[in-house]
Amino acid sequence: MQFTDLPIHHNLLKALEVKGLDTPTEIQSKAIPYGLMGKDLIASSKTGSGKTLAFLLPAVQRVLTKQPLSRRDPRVLILAPTRELAKQVFLQLKGLIAKQQLKAALILGGENFNDQVKALKHHPQFIVGTAGRVADHLAGKSLFLNGLEMLILDEADRMLDLGFAPQLRLINQAADHRKRQSMMFSATLDSAAMHELTQSLLKSPQRISVGSAG
Ligand code: ADP
Ligand code: MG
Repeated sequence: MQFTDLPIHHNLLKALEVKGLDTPTEIQSKAIPYGLMGKDLIASSKTGSGKTLAFLLPAVQRVLTKQPLSRRDPRVLILAPTRELAKQVFLQLKGLIAKQQLKAALILGGENFNDQVKALKHHPQFIVGTAGRVADHLAGKSLFLNGLEMLILDEADRMLDLGFAPQLRLINQAADHRKRQSMMFSATLDSAAMHELTQSLLKSPQRISVGSAG
């Protein structure tokens, strides 16, 4: 299978071509079709297997091709466990949406809060961030998630290990739209804490596991 075999927007195919990417990795070829169908999913595969594009392609496809639920609220929220990982996701996202009329904001802990408030006032369709700071903006009413269409947790098990369960619960409740699609990526799927998170975030999720994750 090639990326061109997937039903994705030509602008996305162009962006992949520019990056020299033509063949999806195994996790991408398994996860992307479900992501594009709007299904919730939980997926695991080892580091370096290409999980970022597995969730970014369905996310950007949705924003490019579907009417928004809200013009004010972000449509896609991607959470990562650390500032560094969030930055990496953000850079890949920027590569995919470059040259399109789409905005993304990076919302990290340890950065100036008011600058982020200003960035949020520009109504970005995408937010990439760390859970603590995103929860702070919800509490400060500088961010509303009523119109959120897609919630993505990258390295969900690490977020739990870092103690972000309360913030994830808060974000989940703030974005409790019946039309929301959610995707979780994790190295491990089997802990009790992961099970609880899966139960509260996902609706009849597709489970995808590639190789022995780690
Ligand atoms: P993971 O999140 O599973 O650890 P990443 O999404 O960070 O993996 O991807 C690891 C590397 O693989 C990145 O440098 C990315 O650009 C590259 N990559 C992703 N998908 C493909 C692909 N389909 N073909 C070639 N390289 C890819
Ligand atoms: Mg990753």
